[in-house]
Amino acid sequence: MNKKQKKLRNRILVALGIFIVMEILEVAGVFESLPYGVWIEFVAFLIPYLIAGYDVLAKAWHGITHKQPFDENLLMAIATIGAFALVFFPEAEPHMAEGAAVMLFYQVGSLFESYAVGKTRKSISDMMDIAPDFANLVGEDGEITQVDPFEVAVGSKIVVKAGERVPLDGIVLSGQSQLDTSALTGESVPRVVEEGAEVISGCVNMTGMLTIETTSAAENSTVQRILELVENASEKKSRSENFISRFARVYTPIVVGLALLIALICPFLGFSISKSVESALVFLVVSCPCALVISVPLSFFGGIGAASRQGILVKGSSYLEALSEVDTIAFDKTGTLTSGKFGVVAVHAHGGVDKDLLLSYAAHAEAYSNHPIALSVVESYSGVIDHDKIDNVEEISGKGVSATVDEHRVFVGNDKLMESKEQLYHNCKLVGTILHVAVDGEYLGHIIIADMMKDDAKEAIDGLHAAGVKTTVMLTGDRKEVADAVGGELGVDEIRSQLMPQDKVTAVEELLANHEGMKGRVAFVGDGVNDAPVLMRADVGIAMGGMGSDAAIEAADIVLMDDKPSNIAKAIRIARKTLRIVKQNIVFALGVKVVIMILALPMIGIANMWLAVFGDVGVSVIAILNAMRCLRVQK
Ligand code: ADP
Ligand code: MG
Repeated sequence: MNKKQKKLRNRILVALGIFIVMEILEVAGVFESLPYGVWIEFVAFLIPYLIAGYDVLAKAWHGITHKQPFDENLLMAIATIGAFALVFFPEAEPHMAEGAAVMLFYQVGSLFESYAVGKTRKSISDMMDIAPDFANLVGEDGEITQVDPFEVAVGSKIVVKAGERVPLDGIVLSGQSQLDTSALTGESVPRVVEEGAEVISGCVNMTGMLTIETTSAAENSTVQRILELVENASEKKSRSENFISRFARVYTPIVVGLALLIALICPFLGFSISKSVESALVFLVVSCPCALVISVPLSFFGGIGAASRQGILVKGSSYLEALSEVDTIAFDKTGTLTSGKFGVVAVHAHGGVDKDLLLSYAAHAEAYSNHPIALSVVESYSGVIDHDKIDNVEEISGKGVSATVDEHRVFVGNDKLMESKEQLYHNCKLVGTILHVAVDGEYLGHIIIADMMKDDAKEAIDGLHAAGVKTTVMLTGDRKEVADAVGGELGVDEIRSQLMPQDKVTAVEELLANHEGMKGRVAFVGDGVNDAPVLMRADVGIAMGGMGSDAAIEAADIVLMDDKPSNIAKAIRIARKTLRIVKQNIVFALGVKVVIMILALPMIGIANMWLAVFGDVGVSVIAILNAMRCLRVQK
C-alpha cells in the first residue's frame, strides 16, 4: 500500500469506528429518548460521513464548478446528500445511517480498486525489473570497481560475471557464455556469445565471465528504452477508455433525469413522497459506473503487461484495441519474413572483368549503407575495405547506392537504378536479388545474392490465417521472381514486388481504402529500414525491434523484440482476449445495474439502499478480478 492508500484506509477505519458506535446508540434507542433526537442523530452520522467522503464531495463540487459534473462522484454526492435530506420529510423514515454507510462502502470499493491497479502495475514492473543497478567497471590499472551504470562512459570496459545481468549494451571483448534473453524477448533458448558478439543490456549472463566494451550510455541502452516504452504505454488512453468517459457524459445526466422523474411522478401514482425519493436515491447509487471506470483501463494495462512478457511491446492501449480488429496484414519481405542476412549465390562478371574487382567495387560502394543487402555484401567481401578511397556516398532508397571509389563513379543496385542512370545492363535468369555493378558508365556484371526465410515465417503466416486474419500481403522492393518464390512457399495471399518505399505506402493506403467503413483493420509489419512511413500510415504498425533499430521503435505502434513474425499471432490473441474481457465487464456491470435499478422502482420496491451499495461494490470487485485475468499469459 502506498501513502495515499494508507491515508484512505485510516480514514475509513476511523469513520467506520465512529459509525459503529453511532449505530449501536441508535439501535439502543438512545437518540429517540433525547430531545431533538433526530437532529442529534443527524449530526452523529454526519461526522463519519464527512470523514469518509469529504474528498468525494469535493471532487463532485470541483466537477460542477469546472462544467464537467457528470461522473461517479456526482452520483455518490447526490445519493448520499439525498439520504441525509430525507430528514426534512417529516413522514419519512430517517436514512442518515444508510447515507453514511453508502459513502463508507463506496470508499472501501475505491480503496480496493486503487490497490488492485497498484498491484498490477507492480507485477508488470517486477517483470520488467531488468535494469541492473551496478556495473563492474574495469579501470586503467585493471582494478574492478562497482559503479552506477549511468556513470559509465561509452567505450568503457566492464566485466559481467556469471549470474549477473548485463548493465549496458556492448560488444564482447573476451570470454564466452550463454545469455538468457527471456526477459527481453520471451525467447527461452539461451543465446551463445563469444568474442565480437553484440550483447544487449537486460540479458542475464548465465555461464561464463564476459568482458564487454560498452557501446551506449545507460540512458540510451536497450533496457532503459524498453522501460520507457512500457511506462509510456500504460499512460496512453485507448478509444475504449474514451468510450467510457463519453459514455459517462451521456449516461449520468440520463440517470439523474430518470431519478428526478421517479421522485416526481411516483407520488402521483399513489406512493408516499418519502418512498418515491428513496427509490430515486437507490436508483442513483446503483447507477454508479465505477466498475467500468476502473476495470477497463486495468484490463488494458494487464494485456500490455502480458504482451511485454512475450517480448511484444505495445505502445498504448488503443493499439491493443486496433490489433484485436486486424483482418489484413501486410509484410515487408527483407528482414521481416526473411532473415536479411544475404549470402552470395553467384558472381557473373561481364566480359573479361575480374570477379574480385567486381566484388571489391560493390563492397566499397556499400561500405556506409545500413541496408541488410549492404551489410551482407561487406561481410562476404574477403578483402580489406579502404575507407579513404570512398567518397560521395549516396543511398538511393529502394534502388541501391552510388559512390566514388578510387576516383571512379560506381553504381550498385537493381534494374531501376541502372535505368535511372541510363546504364546498360544484363538480365539474369537465376532466382535471387540482383546487384548490378557499373563503374564510370561501364557495366562490370552482377552479383546474385539470396537470404534465408526466417525459421518461423511459415508458422507466422499459418498462425495468422488460423487466427482468422483474412488477407496476408507481401510488399517488397525485390524482384518479382524472388518475391514469388518466397511468397509462394509461405502461402501469402497476395504478392506485390518491385515497389519503391513510397509504393508501399500507396499499397497500404489501398488496403485501408478497401476497409473504409468496414470493421477490420490493416496492420503493416516491417523491419524499419526505410519502412517508417508505411509503419505510420497503417492502422497498426508493427516493427521488428532488431534490438536497436531506432527508426523502427520510434515509428511503430508495436515492437517485436525478438524479430519473430510468429509473435504477431500471439499478440493478436492477447489483444482479443483483453477486448473480450473488457466487453464482458461492460455487459456484466450494466446488466446487474439495470436489474437492481428495476428492483428499486417503488412499484416493485425490493431493492433498498443497502442492496444498492453491496451491488455496486460487488460488481466492481468481480469486474476487477476479471480484468486481472488479462495479465495471465497463455502459452
Ligand atoms: P524490401 O522491400 O525487400 O525490404 P527495399 O525497399 O529495402 O527492399 O529495397 C528494394 C530493392 O532495392 C532491393 O531488393 C535491392 O534490389 C535494391 N536496394 C536497396 N538498397 C540497396 C543497397 N544498399 N544496395 C543494393 N541494392 C539495394
Ligand atoms: Mg525492408
